[in-house]
Amino acid sequence: MEKKATETDITYLPGVGPRRAELLRKELGISTFGDLIRFYPFRYLDRSSTVRIADIVPDMAYVQIRAKVVRRELYGAAGLIEAEEAGQAQSSERAEDSGGSGQTPRFNSVKRMRAIIEDEDGSRMETVYFKGIKWMYEKLEPGRTFIFFGRPTSFNGRINMVHPEVDAASDNAGAKRGARIPEGCLTGIYPSTDRLRNGGITEKVMNRLQATALEATLPDVKESLPEHLLKKMELVPIHYALRNIHFPVSQDALAKARRRLKFEELFYLQLSLLKQKYVRSRSEHGIRMPKVGAAFNRCYESLPFQLTGAQKKVITEIREDMRSGHQMNRLLQGDVGSGKTMVAVLTALIAIGNGYQACIMAPTEVLAQQHFRNISKYVEPAGVKVVLLTGSSRTAERRAAHQGLEDGSIQIAVGTHALLEDNVLFRNLGLAVIDEQHRFGVEQRARLWRKSTCGLPPHVLVMTATPIPRTLAMTLYGDLDVSVIDELPPGRKPVLTMHATEGKRGALYKFMRDQIAAGRQVFVVYPLIFESQKMDYKNLEQGYEQIMQAFPFPPYRTAIVHGQQSNEDKKFNMDAFAAGRADILVATSVIEVGVDVPNASVMVIESAERFGLSQLHQLRGRVGRGSEKSYCVLMTGHKISEESRKRIDLMCATENGFELAEEDMKMRGPGDLEGTQQSGLPVTLSIASLARDGLLLNEARQCAEAVLRDDPTLSSDKNEVLREELRKDKYNIRDYSKIS
Ligand code: ADP
Ligand code: MG
Repeated sequence: MEKKATETDITYLPGVGPRRAELLRKELGISTFGDLIRFYPFRYLDRSSTVRIADIVPDMAYVQIRAKVVRRELYGAAGLIEAEEAGQAQSSERAEDSGGSGQTPRFNSVKRMRAIIEDEDGSRMETVYFKGIKWMYEKLEPGRTFIFFGRPTSFNGRINMVHPEVDAASDNAGAKRGARIPEGCLTGIYPSTDRLRNGGITEKVMNRLQATALEATLPDVKESLPEHLLKKMELVPIHYALRNIHFPVSQDALAKARRRLKFEELFYLQLSLLKQKYVRSRSEHGIRMPKVGAAFNRCYESLPFQLTGAQKKVITEIREDMRSGHQMNRLLQGDVGSGKTMVAVLTALIAIGNGYQACIMAPTEVLAQQHFRNISKYVEPAGVKVVLLTGSSRTAERRAAHQGLEDGSIQIAVGTHALLEDNVLFRNLGLAVIDEQHRFGVEQRARLWRKSTCGLPPHVLVMTATPIPRTLAMTLYGDLDVSVIDELPPGRKPVLTMHATEGKRGALYKFMRDQIAAGRQVFVVYPLIFESQKMDYKNLEQGYEQIMQAFPFPPYRTAIVHGQQSNEDKKFNMDAFAAGRADILVATSVIEVGVDVPNASVMVIESAERFGLSQLHQLRGRVGRGSEKSYCVLMTGHKISEESRKRIDLMCATENGFELAEEDMKMRGPGDLEGTQQSGLPVTLSIASLARDGLLLNEARQCAEAVLRDDPTLSSDKNEVLREELRKDKYNIRDYSKIS
C-alpha cells in the first residue's frame, strides 16, 4: 500500500529539506506532514483590526498597531551609535567605518535598538529591542509600514512597547516553493523559538509550510469522529476544522474549528480512560463483602455526633462498591476537616465485618500516630484490634504486629511506609485506605496490593484533602470513581483571614497574647528551615528566637517542630502542643497535613507569599476546628509580586477549598497542581485547556460515557472510527490505578 501523505517525513515537504526538518523535529516534535497540520496557531493576527496610538493606555493587555517606521537607532553601552530617519541617513562615524552595509561587526557592541513608529494619525511611539537586534534592525527600515503586536508599557510617563512582534503590513508575495497562503481575514501565529526563527522558519514560512502540508495531506485525512457524535454535538467535519484552524475564513469559522478540535481531544482522552475503567469493572475481580457487620453497627451507634449528609452519601457509595463483587477504586475528596477519617474508619469496619483486615496508610509519622489514636478510640469498644506500624516502632512491637497481622488476630494496621516492607504480611487484607494520596507513588500502591494473600486485590480508598478541581480530577483520575464530601460538620466557625506586613508585627503579638490569655493556642508556620541561597526567607530558627523574646518563659510556653528533628523530638513537641502544655507551636510546613488541635485558634503564616494557594489553605484548615472564633494571619513582605498578591487576596476572600483550587488552576495552569499529585497528565493536550475548557470537558465526558454505555466494546459499525483512533499511540494512556 502506498504510504499516506500524513505519514510522510517532514523532510520531503517543499520548503523544508534536511536542515529545517531537523529543527522542526527538535524544537517542535514535528516529524511528519500529519504532525505539522496538527500543530496549531496559538493566536491570530487580524489585519483588519488595529488601534490608534493615541488610544493606547498602559493597562491594555495586547494591542495591534499599523504604523510606519520613522527612525531607527542603535545604542551601545556608551549611548547612541547610529540612527537613521526616513528619507535621510544620519550615521555616526563608526557606522560609516563599517560601510553601513549591515555587516555583522558593528552589531557586536550594540546593546539595544529603538524604533520610532508613527500611525496614520501622525501619533508616535517607540519600540525597543534588546535581543535579535541585527535581524530586527534590518527589517525595520525607515519609511516602511508594519503591523506591530505587543503589550504596551509605560516608561518615564510615555507609552512604549518592548519586543513587539512585527509583521509586514501586506505580503503574500515571494513564495518560491509550496502553496500560496490562502487569503483570509486572520493569520495564524504559531508557537516558535529563537532557533526556529534563526533557522529561517519565520512566521511567514510556517504559514506557507502549513498551506503546503494541508494541500498535500487533507485528501488522506479521514474523519476522526463518528457521524453520530458530529451530529449530536453539532461539530464541523475534520477537513473544515483543519483548514480553518490554520487559515480561518472568518472569526465564526475559527470558533467552530477550535470547538471541534478541542472536543475531539478531550473526548478521546475521556474515552480511553473510561474504557480502562469499564474493562476493569467488568472483570469479576473483587472481594464480595455483602454485609455491613456488627462492628460497623456498634461503632455507628456509639458515635458522639451525627454523620453529615455528605459522609452518609459517601459511605453508601462505598458500601455499593464493596458488595458489588468488583474491586473498589475510589478517590475520596474532602476539604480539610470534612471528616474523612470517620469515613475511613467505617469503611474499615465493613471489611472487618466481612471477615477481612484493613490497613490505613498515612504519609507522615505524626499523621499515622494521630490516625492511630483516633481510630483506636472508635473501634476498640467494638472489639477490634488496631496496631501502629511506623519507622520508629520498636523491634519487639514490630514483631508482635507482624505476627498479629499474619495470624489475623489484629484487624487494622495503621502506619506509614513501614507497612510496605516485605516482611509485613496480612492473613486476608480486604481494604487499603491511603490518606493524602499524592505522597505515594503508583509503585508503592502496587506493593500494597500484593500483600493480599487471598488471591483477590483489596478494595482501595484513596483520600485526599487537596481540593483537585473537578476538571483536573476527571483527567488525572478518569479511571477512578470519585466521591466528594462537600459539607463540613456542623458548628464549624469560619476562620477570619487577614493579611499583614512587618509594620503590624507589634499588633500581631499583642493579638496573640490576648488569645493566649483567653486560653487559646497559636500556630506560627515558616516556609523552610534553613535560609536558602539569597532569598529573604524567614528562617525558622530566627523566627523561633524572635518568638522566644516576645513570648518569654514563663509565662509563655513555646514548642517547635521541624523536619530535621528526630521523630521522638517531633512527637514530644507535638504532644505538648496537642495536650495544651504549650501555647505556641513554631513549625515548618510539616504540620500541613492532618494535625488536629481544636483549642488552637490562631494560625500565623510567615512569608505567606512563599506558599502556594493549596498549601495556605491546608495550613489554615488547622484552625477553626473548635468552638472558638479562629483567625489566620498571612504575614508577607511589603513588596510582593502580583501573583502573590492575588493568592493572598483570594485567601482573604474565600474559605472554600474547591473555589481556591479552581482559581489556582486558572492562575497557574494545571501544571503545578499536577506536580503536587506527583504525576503528569496522562496525555499532553495540544489545543484544549483543562483550566479554561471545563464545560467542554464535561460534555466530552458525558459523550464518552454515553458511547460506552451503548456499545461497551466499541464493536458496532458506527463506532469503527473510535476503535481505530484509540489504537493510536497517543491514546495509550498510563493506567493510574495499576491495580492487581
Ligand atoms: P479530615 O481528615 O477530613 O481533615 P477529620 O476526619 O480529621 O477530617 O475530622 C475533623 C474533625 O471533625 C475530627 O475532630 C472529627 O472527630 C470531627 N468530625 C468528623 N465527622 C464529624 C461529624 N459528622 N460531626 C461532628 N464532628 C465530626
Ligand atoms: Mg485527615
